[in-house]
Formats: sequence, C-alpha cells, structure tokens
Amino acid sequence: MRRLRRPPIPREGKPVDTRPLESEIQKQILDYLAAERIFAIRFNTGALRDRTGRVMQFHSAGPGVADILAFFDLGGTYWAGDREIEDVHHQQVLWIEVKRPGEQQRESQKQFQAYVEEQGHYYLVARDVADVVDWQRQFDPHWSEKR
Ligand SMILES: [Mg+2]
Repeated sequence: MRRLRRPPIPREGKPVDTRPLESEIQKQILDYLAAERIFAIRFNTGALRDRTGRVMQFHSAGPGVADILAFFDLGGTYWAGDREIEDVHHQQVLWIEVKRPGEQQRESQKQFQAYVEEQGHYYLVARDVADVVDWQRQFDPHWSEKR
C-alpha cells in the first residue's frame, strides 16, 4: 500500500512554500516534449546522507549535468562520404536545466553549460514549460504558432 505524505502544517509566521517541486516541473516538461514528439532523456540526480549526516550528491552523468537532454529534429539529410544518407536528419542538442522559481544554477552547472555551449549545443534554464516553448519559438525551425 502506498503511504501518503502528510501535507506541511502551516506554522504561524512561516509561509508554506507553494512553488512546484523541481521533479514536478521536470515531469511537465518531459510530458510536453513527448507530446511534441521530441526525443528526450532525463538524467537522474540524487542525494543521500553519509554516516556523518553530510548530504552527498550523485549524478548519472557527472557533476553539473543538466536535468534533460533533448534532440530537436532540424530536418534535411546530410552527406556521408560520397552518398547522401536518407533518413539521417540533422539534430540540434538542447540541454535543459530545470529550476524551481527563484533558484539559481550551481557553479558546477554553469561550468557544464560553458562546456556544452563550446561543443555547439544549446542550453536552457527552464522554470516551467513556457520557457521551453519560448526557446522553440526562437530556435526550432518547425515551430509554428498555429497548431
Ligand atoms: Mg535542476
């Protein structure tokens, strides 16, 4: 049986944090990308406490890695050697770092951003689905307002 988490008890003078959890924002963005048929992978990050009670962060792809990796199909084909490869499309890489409203990138995340931008990838800090849509409006050649 699934145990339900108790809602936070509001204390006097201590406002309850009503912002969505980062995991909720991540899920909304992944659902949106799936609906748009955009291939995306989520990188898991976790935290554990060691024996001394210190919080240890672990990542599935190195420190500072963004939460979501998405591939935008730019269409077209490219040449490999002396023949055109059909069905091999140009893809644009977009890394999405998801943050709750008001939260900022950590230093390792800024370093990761600089590294992937150097590789010619796109990088976006997104606080909701609308930030992803804004990115598409700007960079996705298949984007159209009428859909
Ligand atoms: Mg994040």
